[in-house]
Amino acid sequence: MREINVSEITNAVAKLCIDANCKLNSDVYNALENAKKTEESEIGKEILCQLTENADIAKNENMPICQDTGMAVIFVELGQEVHISGGKLTDAINEGVRKGYTEGYLRKSVVKDPFIRENTKDNTPAIIHYDIVEGDKLKITVAPKGFGSENMSQIFMLKPSAGIEGAKDAIVRAVDEAGPNPCPPMVVGVGVGGNFEMSAYLAKKALLRPIGSHSDKPHLREMEEELLERMNNLGIGPQGLGGRTTVLGVNVESYPTHIAGMPIAVNISCHVTRHAEVIL
Ligand code: SF4
Repeated sequence: MREINVSEITNAVAKLCIDANCKLNSDVYNALENAKKTEESEIGKEILCQLTENADIAKNENMPICQDTGMAVIFVELGQEVHISGGKLTDAINEGVRKGYTEGYLRKSVVKDPFIRENTKDNTPAIIHYDIVEGDKLKITVAPKGFGSENMSQIFMLKPSAGIEGAKDAIVRAVDEAGPNPCPPMVVGVGVGGNFEMSAYLAKKALLRPIGSHSDKPHLREMEEELLERMNNLGIGPQGLGGRTTVLGVNVESYPTHIAGMPIAVNISCHVTRHAEVIL
């Protein structure tokens, strides 16, 4: 049994919150760079240049890439041979979010109650997904998620008779209806199968996969490629001002499902699709 103290976890999470918000991952940055070469709209090209310039400034000045530093979504892979000492794991993670958002001067965007709407003032609680895995390591991924894009996400409880074509139409429709609201170019995470909550979880998890990577299932890989093409023909373009670069990447994750259903979740993210990870 390997022991990890909660203080190590708190410090790691605090650093990840700041890093994720200030340093755009290279896959997103490179996708924006590449899009400059293919974007046909002049204004679209200009916006893409502004987006990479903004990301450069954020990295050099250690400032957030966007004012919406998001709600902290955290994926934990806990090795079953790890013993957490000194306190509770969930408390240690939330303490890390508190520390990171305070010390990094990141905007606190979380309200205590969805109706009363009083700010918790430290961006806690985080949304934490736990997975118990083999081994004696602890992997933590922090994925701050802004709500301009989160609000445009959709879930479809399709009948199996809709088939893969019906699923593709629903996914493209979600992006079309999102239009300029999620600060395009977007990154689109799709969760297929499972049940209601599993499909949403998969869609969120899909956003962690690097842009340009593909599902190892051939039919899903084909689906990702076709969806990307169809979405980039919608004409929404960078920041919704027209152009070909509406979506930088589409990642599809799947899970077995029930004979009577075909849940499809579409989690839309923006040009500031963020995540940072550490293995302790
Ligand atoms: S959708 Fe993304 S880029 Fe737009 S405000 Fe939210 S976090 Fe920022």
